[in-house]
Amino acid sequence: MKRQYFDHNATTPSAPEVVQALLPYLENTYGNASSIHSFGQNARSGVEQARRQVAALLNAKPAEIVFTSGGTESDNLAVLGVVRASGKPRKHVITTTIEHPAVLAACRHLEDEGVAVSYLSAWSKGVVSVDAVRAAIRPETVLISVMHANNELGTVQPIQQIARLAREAGIPCHTDGVQSAGKLATDVQELGVDLFALSGHKIYAPKGVGALYVRKGTVLEPVLFGGRHERGRRPGTENVPGIVGLGAAADLARANLEPERVRLAGLRDRLERGIIERIEHVTVNGGGMERTPNTTNIRFDYIEGEAMVIALDLKGVAVSSGAACSSGAVQPSHVLTAIGLSADQARSSIRFSLGKQNTEDDVDALIEALSAVVAHLRKLSPACVG
Ligand SMILES: *Cc1c(COP(=O)(O)O)cnc(C)c1O
Repeated sequence: MKRQYFDHNATTPSAPEVVQALLPYLENTYGNASSIHSFGQNARSGVEQARRQVAALLNAKPAEIVFTSGGTESDNLAVLGVVRASGKPRKHVITTTIEHPAVLAACRHLEDEGVAVSYLSAWSKGVVSVDAVRAAIRPETVLISVMHANNELGTVQPIQQIARLAREAGIPCHTDGVQSAGKLATDVQELGVDLFALSGHKIYAPKGVGALYVRKGTVLEPVLFGGRHERGRRPGTENVPGIVGLGAAADLARANLEPERVRLAGLRDRLERGIIERIEHVTVNGGGMERTPNTTNIRFDYIEGEAMVIALDLKGVAVSSGAACSSGAVQPSHVLTAIGLSADQARSSIRFSLGKQNTEDDVDALIEALSAVVAHLRKLSPACVG
C-alpha cells in the first residue's frame, strides 16, 4: 500500500536538498555561532548565508530577518513585540476571526494586559474586507495583523490594500505568512507589510525553526530575555542546523515558486472537479475566492469528518478534518464557524493540502478512495437523505 500525504498545511517533510544542506551543521560544523574561534565562525557563516536566503525569498534585507523557533514564536514576537513597544497610553489592535491561534491567542493575552482588540469578520467566503479594516482604525490603533493566506481554507487576504491603509495611518502592519511562503509571491516591498512571519516546517525545512521579517525602523520589544542574539530581538543560542535548513528551503521555494504554483493549482482543480463529479452533497468552503494553489476545504454533508479521516487513514491516505480534538471533545474549527458554517457543517468538512510529492495519479487514487469512503459512511448515517 502506497501511503499518500495530503496534509501539507499541517507540516511538510524536509526536502532532500534541505537535509543535505543542514547535515554538516549537526556533525562537523557544530560550533556556537557566537564563539570567536573557527568552529563558531563556520557556524556563523551558515546562519548568515541562511539569513540572505530567507531575505531573498521576501525581497528584504538580511538585517531585517530574525530567526525564531517557528511560526508561533514569529507571530507572538510580532504581535506582542510591537504592541508592548508602543508608547501610547491606550492601545488597540486590529486582527481577524480567522487567524491562526498563534495570533489569536497572543491578541487575547494582550486583552488581559488592557489592550483593546477588534476581531474582524471574514464572513462568508473567508476573506476580510478592506473597508472593514479602514472602519476599525482608531487613533489608538498600534497594530494591524491580518494573515496572508488562511491555513484551513487557503483564502488569500487583501494584504496589499490593508498594508497601504496601515501605512497611510502610520500603523505597523503584520502578516502571518506561514501558509503563503513558498506558495505565493511574498515580496514584502510589494505587499507593503512591516512584519511577515514564516515557519520552516511548512516549506520543507525541519520543525522548530522560523523567521520574522521586521522592516527597518519598526520598533519591537523582545518577548524572550537573555543574550544579545539576533540584534537583541531574539535571545538564545541559534538553532544552526535548523536555520541552515530554513535557508536552503527558502532557496528551493524561490526557485520553484511559479512552476510549482501552476502544478499544484492544476492538481487541486483536478481534485475538486473529481469530487464534485463523483460525490453528491459537497460544497467547497471558500470556493470561488483567490486561494493558495495547494489547498481545498470541502464539506461532505451527512459525514462525520473525524470518521472520514480515520477511514481514509486505514487506506493509507492522510487528510485533516474541520474539527480538532481539544480537551477530550471534538471542537469544530474556529475558522469554519467564523465564516458561517454550523458546528455540524464544520465537523463534516475536510481539508486537502497538496505538496511537492503529490502527482495526478495520487489525486485520482484519492478521488477513488473518497468515493468509496463517503458511500460507506453515508450508508451508515441515519441523517443521510442522499
Ligand atoms: C502552522 C501555522 C502557524 C504556526 O507555525 P509553527 O511553526 O507550527 O509554530 C502559524 N500560522 C499559520 C497560518 C500556520 O499554518
